Amino acid sequence: MSHISDSIKSLHQSLPQGVELVAVSKFHPVESLREAYDAGQRIFGESRVAEFVEKETLMPADTVWHFIGHIQTNKLKKLIGKVDLYESVDSEHLLTEIDELSARAGIISRVLLEVHVAGEESKFGFLPRDIIDFFTQKRYERLKATHICGLMGMATNTDDPERINADFAQLKRLFEQIKTTTPDLRGFDILSMGMSGDYHLAIANGSTHVRIGTAIFGQRDY
Ligand SMILES: *Cc1c(COP(=O)(O)O)cnc(C)c1O
Repeated sequence: MSHISDSIKSLHQSLPQGVELVAVSKFHPVESLREAYDAGQRIFGESRVAEFVEKETLMPADTVWHFIGHIQTNKLKKLIGKVDLYESVDSEHLLTEIDELSARAGIISRVLLEVHVAGEESKFGFLPRDIIDFFTQKRYERLKATHICGLMGMATNTDDPERINADFAQLKRLFEQIKTTTPDLRGFDILSMGMSGDYHLAIANGSTHVRIGTAIFGQRDY
């Protein structure tokens, strides 16, 4: 067996019930995605629009696509109707654009809001206080064709497990706070956190979706 199908199978066996595996296949050739698919993987995460559009046409129709990268709104048209879950909605402007284009296309799009809790300046996402405001002010009520399914986040890029743990715990607290303060929100049940290096800690903190690339497909050639 290849490394890819080995890793997929052992992840499927070892992830706790209720934790979904998103195989992050960005920068890897479609042959690698097929190997993962043949080993039983269905959810794939991509982060670049042109790369996704090409791979999407080459994979079986029941492949489930999560978009996990920053999206420029001028490229959004190419994704509408093809992405099953936008995990990286990092601004209200992008959310509005997804909603407008989805309404025009006559479809409902599913999204996660990306929250910035990590220490790095460069990461995208809503700040914790802004995400709380968004929900307490019920700003989601103006959406016509978008379903907010939960939150996505990343921990600080560090070797310090306590810092990583604290970041995941904060994401989990925000997720629970939104659920309690906004009980009329339906189907808000996805908390996507955890990557190759930190998914065990993410799961311990209540992650429902882990996004794993390197541990399945190996290093990426950027
Ligand atoms: C690339 C990427 C991952 C996967 O990271 P690995 O360390 O390769 O597992 C997960 N989430 C996001 C948002 C990414 O961009």
